[in-house]
Amino acid sequence: MRIGIMGGTFNPIHYGHLVTAEVVRDKFKLDKVIFVPSYRTPYKGRRDLISSSHRYKMAKLAIENNGYFSVSNIEIKRRGKSYTRDTMKEFKKKFGKETKLFFITGADAIAQMPKWKKAKELPTLCEFIAASRPGFKLRKLPPRYERHTRLIEVPALAISSTDIRKRLKRGETIKYLLPEKVERYIYQHRLYL
Ligand code: ATP
Ligand code: MG
Repeated sequence: MRIGIMGGTFNPIHYGHLVTAEVVRDKFKLDKVIFVPSYRTPYKGRRDLISSSHRYKMAKLAIENNGYFSVSNIEIKRRGKSYTRDTMKEFKKKFGKETKLFFITGADAIAQMPKWKKAKELPTLCEFIAASRPGFKLRKLPPRYERHTRLIEVPALAISSTDIRKRLKRGETIKYLLPEKVERYIYQHRLYL
């Protein structure tokens, strides 16, 4: 089995995440992609961060119509700060040696990787797939990581959760930036106001 893990805050999930996961799945012939909403993202401020339960439910709504996609609550259950290394270790244990794990990230996120907790262990657990993201140029990674990293071009999507939250605050439209069900969920629960 070849499994992609897409980690993120998903605050909220949007088409940038979904397109990236789908293009990577197809190109790298993955059997499935698991979205993993973080509980606490260690290197990110908590301003505007809504509860993990809302973020998890929106991710579930977003992936409903893709049979290859699922959402895991592994980081939410673990509580505390969500470290990718802990998550990959748990998945490795769950799926066994025969399964190859791919960690999917945007080029902006992978640039931070060498600073992550116990990052040096990561290349022994998975391969990395870094999706190019508008506005971010991938800087050179240390060789230890570079050897295990594949770059992929994803159709330019300048969508970000930050922009969506800003739009909501200003009362601007978010239509077509994320799935309709997620949009409806946000309005129903008056999120990000
Ligand atoms: P925020 O603006 O709050 O940081 P975000 O849109 O960057 O949110 P995250 O939850 O931080 O979303 O991202 C999860 C993962 O998805 C990261 O690896 C990030 O690089 C990647 N990603 C996010 N948006 C895009 C996009 N438009 N295209 C490609 N990758 C993306
Ligand atoms: Mg981000």
